[in-house]
Amino acid sequence: MCEAREAMSATQSPVMKEIPPKSEDLSSWYTAVCLKAELVSYAPVRGCVVLRPYGFALWERLQAALDVRFKETGHENAYFPLLIPESLLAKEGEHIEGFAPEVAWVTQGGGETLPERLAIRPTSEVIIGTMYAQWIQSYRDLPILINQWANVMRWEKATRPFLRTLEFLWQEGHTAHATEQEAQAEAAQMLGIYREVAEGTVAVPVVVGEKSSSERFAGANHTFSLEALMPDGKALQSATSHELGQNFSRAYDITFADTDQQVKHVWTTSWGMSWRMLGAMIMVHGDDRGLRLPPKMAPIEVMIIPIVRGEEPAVLAAAQALAQELRAAGRRVRVDERDDKKPGFKFADADMRGIPVRIEVGARDLANGELVVVRRDQERGAEGTKVTVARDAIVTHLATLLNEIQASLFAQAQAQLARGLVTAEHRDDFLRLCRERAGLVEIPWCDQPACEAAVKAETSATTRNLRPLGVDQQPARCVACGEPARVRAYFAQSY
Ligand SMILES: [Zn+2]
Repeated sequence: MCEAREAMSATQSPVMKEIPPKSEDLSSWYTAVCLKAELVSYAPVRGCVVLRPYGFALWERLQAALDVRFKETGHENAYFPLLIPESLLAKEGEHIEGFAPEVAWVTQGGGETLPERLAIRPTSEVIIGTMYAQWIQSYRDLPILINQWANVMRWEKATRPFLRTLEFLWQEGHTAHATEQEAQAEAAQMLGIYREVAEGTVAVPVVVGEKSSSERFAGANHTFSLEALMPDGKALQSATSHELGQNFSRAYDITFADTDQQVKHVWTTSWGMSWRMLGAMIMVHGDDRGLRLPPKMAPIEVMIIPIVRGEEPAVLAAAQALAQELRAAGRRVRVDERDDKKPGFKFADADMRGIPVRIEVGARDLANGELVVVRRDQERGAEGTKVTVARDAIVTHLATLLNEIQASLFAQAQAQLARGLVTAEHRDDFLRLCRERAGLVEIPWCDQPACEAAVKAETSATTRNLRPLGVDQQPARCVACGEPARVRAYFAQSY
């Protein structure tokens, strides 16, 4: 029985053969995994993808982790229209200038040319700000803490599933406050929540900091971001949180009568995480066999695979009973009952989908009161990857094992990030590291757009985010241009 099982798992399934090795060609591997794991299909419209049920289930896991935290911190969900009149969009000058190249316009409706064209929202500050101006009169109406789960559209040239698509899913929070301090605290709080979800749920470690002036959100005073590092040394911006100051409240006339009777403009924030976070998860954790999902993100935590040869109804029944028991214990479980597929194929398929644990149920194991449990987070054949567990102990064993897998994937990703955090002392080294995509290259930096543009022209790298200079690091010189340094900056090429 055991030998037969080994032979079956050793058989290369057709699914696996079609995926290029991750280390050799990350880009082809990534696309192949997204398609083979049935996360997405390409749509008839260029640059758009269909989110298939397994992909949507991943999105729902991310949504749930974020949504509960938004609500815990006093936010409510609402929904605003997809279309924004051009005249409204144009009111905030920097905002429209920043987004204009990516906006898709509706110019006809009902067979007639519209008197004013309508933008398909690239983001919703404008439409939401317009409504806030109507809703807010007094300090008693503040703060307003609203989140929207929505799709947005940005007309991108090059596209990749999750990383960059014309239409994508995200959440966008929009808040209005009486004071600048409150708005600052809100933007910081949401950045903290994003970090908690990225690292604690998605198991993707990030560096957190402020965007440079050339990288910040169009219309914001301050933009803060989470940056994850991909295995090819490129950074992936995974979430942003913006202090919008009074820029939008002035443009859209959002005012309130304060406690001192003075009419003042509100202070606003916005913050968003999109399905890009799933792209980061896929790239950071995946391996040559496909996805590796952190248990907290896995739509299916445990796949039960009955090992049957011909008719063995007792094995199937035992697999079903096990699934019921695990479900009752709160596990997300499925039984792969397909009778036209061999166990070896099913093993490879569960691997491809990144399911954290598979349980093999065979007649002899059942007779012995045992189950074979295989974890996905380790390399095939590694010590402890495949263990025999007493049937009676399976519920507690899984609870511990899934926590261990969550922690182990995060630890592996942290080690990967640590290898990619590099510093440079000299200009030539710095430029070479940027060109070679060595990772997030940290230097003392002058914080000047011209310097950033020069680095970009030479290396394709830009600042990802910035943090304050340490007290002991002053005075320092910008490694890129030699001017006095004002911050420390992470430079990298980016997705
Ligand atoms: Zn410089």
